[in-house]
Amino acid sequence: MFETAIAGSLPKPSWLAETEKLWPEWRSSGAELERAKADATLVWLKIQEDAGIDIVGDGEQSRQHFVHGFLARVEGIDFEHKVKMGIRNNRYDAMVPQVTGPLRLAGRVHEAEARLVRAHTAKPLKFTLPGPMTIVDTVADRFYGDGKEGRIRLAFAFAELLNQEARALQADGVDIVQFDEPAFNVYMADAAEWGVAALERAAEGLECKTAVHICYGYGIRANVDWKETLGGEWRQYEQVFPALAKSAIDQVSLECLHSHVPAELMRLLDGKDVMVGVIDVACDVIETPEEIADTIGSALRFVPRERLFPCTNCGLAPMRREVAEAKLAALAQGARLARERYDR
Ligand code: ZN
Repeated sequence: MFETAIAGSLPKPSWLAETEKLWPEWRSSGAELERAKADATLVWLKIQEDAGIDIVGDGEQSRQHFVHGFLARVEGIDFEHKVKMGIRNNRYDAMVPQVTGPLRLAGRVHEAEARLVRAHTAKPLKFTLPGPMTIVDTVADRFYGDGKEGRIRLAFAFAELLNQEARALQADGVDIVQFDEPAFNVYMADAAEWGVAALERAAEGLECKTAVHICYGYGIRANVDWKETLGGEWRQYEQVFPALAKSAIDQVSLECLHSHVPAELMRLLDGKDVMVGVIDVACDVIETPEEIADTIGSALRFVPRERLFPCTNCGLAPMRREVAEAKLAALAQGARLARERYDR
């Protein structure tokens, strides 16, 4: 009961990449970089296990960014000529690669890190991939056509590639494949209309657990400012959850602590496992076990105990490493306290 997990990303050690950045530069290249990525992955695996996290991951140590890491292995994308684009409905500008031709996977994307983690832990392993709709919102398309029709074509083209990689990850021994779809909270109507269908295409045929993470973004300034404009009640999930409840996806990861998401919206996920965000990634204050157990307690009013997985609100990538380590330990302690409190 109350098995803990993290949304996905963890800070990169200073010897691997620049710290406290969303798109950090690597510190080395070639074989040395590959060695450093593997070392960082093992360090974080050990830290997660020592903290007492139940469902572990690779901390996304091998990818520069959660979307562009996947794109690096996709043919039909021009990484040489990035363009500036407003992403997440112009919330912030990013330098994004361009889609210039038909998309195809050049080979495996995450084989090395998935197999590495699998070989070093007996715990359930969750592996994250970007969702198709969020990828579409993080590239500039010059090939699949304008308007909504073009975006849908592009999303399903990516979904097919994601599905290939997801099936291969399953064969590597991954227990849960999670797709990250922060764009679902930005384009809610599109998400319900075709985003969930594209997500299901990405997860098609998987026999391992499938999950989707939908959040209000990393704890960066642009996101914190955006949240200020969302008012006292955040009801974005209300438009997407009914479509997800009907979908084949098994688990949904959502933001809870310190958000203005009405907890009763979790009721809309009837029949799904719910990864409840009990750790705030936008502030450095470490949650107390009591606070975490309280958050779990309030979610319990709407999610059955066997379906509730305490989790972080989002990835911890841009945080300071010490803060992230303390938050992982707090997450496990809070879940332990909740087990004592709510076990009957
Ligand atoms: Zn997130």
